[in-house]
Amino acid sequence: MKNFLPHQYKIDRRHKIKHNYLSEQFKDFKSILKKFEKIIRNNDFTLGEEVNIFENNIKKLLNQKYVVAVGSGTDALMLSLKCLGVKEGDEVITTPYTFYATIGAIVTAGAKPIFVDIDEDYNINPKKIENKISKKTKAILPVHWSGRVCNMDQIKKVSKKYNLPIIEDSCHGILAKYRKKFAGSFGEFGCFSLHPLKNLNVWGDGGFVVIKQKKYFKKMMLLRNHGLAGRNKNIYFGYNSRLDTLQACVANHLFKRINHITKMRIKNAQRIDEGLKSIKDVITKKRHSHLKEVYHLYEFRVKKANLRNSLVNFLIKNKIDAKIHYPIPMHLQPAAKQYKYKKGDFPKTEEIANSTISLPVHEFIKSKEIKHMLNKIKLFFYEN
Ligand SMILES: *Cc1c(COP(=O)(O)O)cnc(C)c1O
Repeated sequence: MKNFLPHQYKIDRRHKIKHNYLSEQFKDFKSILKKFEKIIRNNDFTLGEEVNIFENNIKKLLNQKYVVAVGSGTDALMLSLKCLGVKEGDEVITTPYTFYATIGAIVTAGAKPIFVDIDEDYNINPKKIENKISKKTKAILPVHWSGRVCNMDQIKKVSKKYNLPIIEDSCHGILAKYRKKFAGSFGEFGCFSLHPLKNLNVWGDGGFVVIKQKKYFKKMMLLRNHGLAGRNKNIYFGYNSRLDTLQACVANHLFKRINHITKMRIKNAQRIDEGLKSIKDVITKKRHSHLKEVYHLYEFRVKKANLRNSLVNFLIKNKIDAKIHYPIPMHLQPAAKQYKYKKGDFPKTEEIANSTISLPVHEFIKSKEIKHMLNKIKLFFYEN
């Protein structure tokens, strides 16, 4: 088996309008290399000063008391579960419409993922959570898919009623808001990823956790660093999951632009929304004034689901990097075989997985390119 480079990193000359924008984003990479030089001269390699700066940057940005930088978004989730004491035999309620890592973190912590179907907004349906709570339930783990915060009023209500902590998978949702509150600030833990294709990103892996209570903050600080309270004192047998100092340096560099990145994504999404409105063959998401969506993905649905794959292929042929995030939900993945779910178990999840399509929406997409995408989509439905 070889390491594989996810194909989104390949600089694919076939696509004029791409999901990958990293070369443009880091055009000024030389200023980061200068900072690397300083780190090397100071031997400031693990949990160096740049990590502190990054944690403080996030605290200020999200107006939060406790932030711990870790090795990845997956670790952010897994270590949050560990902080809560989740273990073998426990259950964690979540959505089948997510990226593999959400479920991987739950399973790595030893627990069983209990899926709840989603709603029209691609997010967990809060009305269906209560039914799935059992004596073994230890947490609710909603995912703010595409940078749109879940219905937190209702999820909080259930969490209070059953005294269940919330861990938010906010990997898509930096700066997203629900009723003026940031994604990641509703639960005991808000987990974020700095993966190269997330809205705030680095040159490899990285993540961070926003934490509400001091006791969990203290535990997280220990767990990410072998459980060490000092060179000679081991409080827990923990993990090694520190945000790399070099990556923290990249994150701090990009941090200055996160508001601009977010603004551009919102602006682009609004333009696409506007254009798709006149196409009767598609279903766009309803937008709400109490939500600030940050559009990690721009998704819409094709009314006649059997046309979805041909639309994706048509756009790709026209040099537009259309994608599906994702065609196979978690309960139908080979990895979930042990839980014995079957087709039809989560109808809304399956309906959306079968009809959804994503367009590039990042900060470097030009309005001319958006027009081009919209024209091609119109042409496709004219011909089909
Ligand atoms: C990216 C992502 C993760 C995992 O983050 P990594 O930093 O890649 O480990 C978890 N959940 C969701 C929804 C994600 O998109």
